[in-house]
Amino acid sequence: MASEGYANGDYGVMSDGFSAGALFKQGFSYTYDDLIFHPGYINFAVDDVDLTTSLTRNIKLRTPCVSSPMDTVSEESMAVAMAAVGGIGFVHYNNTAQEQAGIVRRAKKQRVGYVASPVCVRPSDSISIIDALKAGRGFSSVVVTEDGAVGSRLVGIVTSRDVDFVRDRSTEVREVMSRDLVTAPAGTSLEEAAKILIGSKKSLLPLVTESGEFVELLCRTDLKAYHELPPLGAPSLGSDGKLLVGAAIGTRDSDKDRLKLLVEAGVNVVILDSSQGDSMYQRQMIEYIKKAHPGLDVIGGNVVTGYQAKNLIDAGVDGLRVGMGSGSICTTQEVCAVGRGQGTAVYKTAAVANALGVPIIADGGISNSGHVVKALSLGASTVMMGSFLAGTDEAPGNFFFQDGVKLKSYRGMGSLEAMTKGSDARYLGDKTRLKIAQGVSGSVAAKGSVLRLVPYTLQAVKQGLQDLGVSTVKAAHDGLNAGVIRLEVRSGAAQKEGGIHDLVSYEKRRF
Ligand code: 5GP
Repeated sequence: MASEGYANGDYGVMSDGFSAGALFKQGFSYTYDDLIFHPGYINFAVDDVDLTTSLTRNIKLRTPCVSSPMDTVSEESMAVAMAAVGGIGFVHYNNTAQEQAGIVRRAKKQRVGYVASPVCVRPSDSISIIDALKAGRGFSSVVVTEDGAVGSRLVGIVTSRDVDFVRDRSTEVREVMSRDLVTAPAGTSLEEAAKILIGSKKSLLPLVTESGEFVELLCRTDLKAYHELPPLGAPSLGSDGKLLVGAAIGTRDSDKDRLKLLVEAGVNVVILDSSQGDSMYQRQMIEYIKKAHPGLDVIGGNVVTGYQAKNLIDAGVDGLRVGMGSGSICTTQEVCAVGRGQGTAVYKTAAVANALGVPIIADGGISNSGHVVKALSLGASTVMMGSFLAGTDEAPGNFFFQDGVKLKSYRGMGSLEAMTKGSDARYLGDKTRLKIAQGVSGSVAAKGSVLRLVPYTLQAVKQGLQDLGVSTVKAAHDGLNAGVIRLEVRSGAAQKEGGIHDLVSYEKRRF
């Protein structure tokens, strides 16, 4: 019998490692860290890797990253930042329907680079208001409009230079404000507005309508910070030309009213937020949404098996959220004994859903760029991140220090703390039942801005796909299905070896 091996010319790709089909048949539940991919052949540059992908049947994204609908992750600033980097943010619903719809409306109204909610004062306000703004918000250049609000006629600008040496702090703004203004027409592009602002040498550039109403503001300090960021590329925009914003809802009757407000606010896609999505509640809600709001894409979940995925696809979902118990703050597997290793869950659900044209969001367990590469290469079209994005400047909440480390709070939506605020619908506990936590509350390290973190992460993801020899997300899926992408399980020692080891000390800087 001919022996196998190099001497006999047996060094082809298909005989080394495993195809995903063979590997995931073995009866184990694998996490991302259990798995490792074999490198492929590189015949393209890293900048040729295109991460364009599908969030749902009808929504495409330039960036395969989405923020999780959690109250310590996704509100207005996160939704804007995620759309700015080509992804999307999902606004949480641990708030009133009006609050959630307000966040969606405000986020959608924003244009990347412009001040989110510019503060205005009235000409009759006293200049002590500028002192208060400087102390509380850290800035002292303010637009003056007739009614002291956005949308009212622009009459001046007041900066610290106008008020620095005025002794009487009850002096009215109108007496010191500058009326010599440089403005730009409403709707001016960021590039054009930046040119005008830089040329004017002023600190603020108000954008005004033809009849003189103040609508938007470009600020020199923001512009400087913006220029120091990696290139962001085109933002995610909906067919309305506004930023793409998603939101989560539950499956109760009251969520139908919530949904109505969200649709009025212009939400582009909704997620039915449940830790176990294969339920009659979710099927009924999908049916309702498809009838009441036929143009709206619905993401169902969470699911971890092909069977669950098929059920929700049959019910009409446009996208699926995958993961049960893989989240960093999650205790579902411990409390309920149900769930799946995230690598296996992504592969098994994607095998069914991709064949039926429904994209998968790999939700939870992403703690580095390698996990993103693994999720996409196992069949996911996007990844949903909680802890990875918590602790950024754009995540809700204030930074605090503990033992000299700068932190922000991050909590599971099934933690007692979050449920006490109202998120218990997701975990099927309500005020009439005993509350059982399926998550914890903690903190994560400060990570700077999403506008820096995500572009650097994406560059690393591109390098990963290049190493695999695939230049698109679709090529990764095709390579996996064809058995060309090869992988295997890492032993505990191999995982140790794959991490940093045998150093007395080191500093891990990601970029
Ligand atoms: P992470 O990115 O932090 O690893 O995981 C975030 C994901 O964990 C969320 O998108 C959501 O699916 C899930 N999750 C959020 N809060 C909880 C919780 O309290 N319990 C459980 N079981 N999962 C949670």
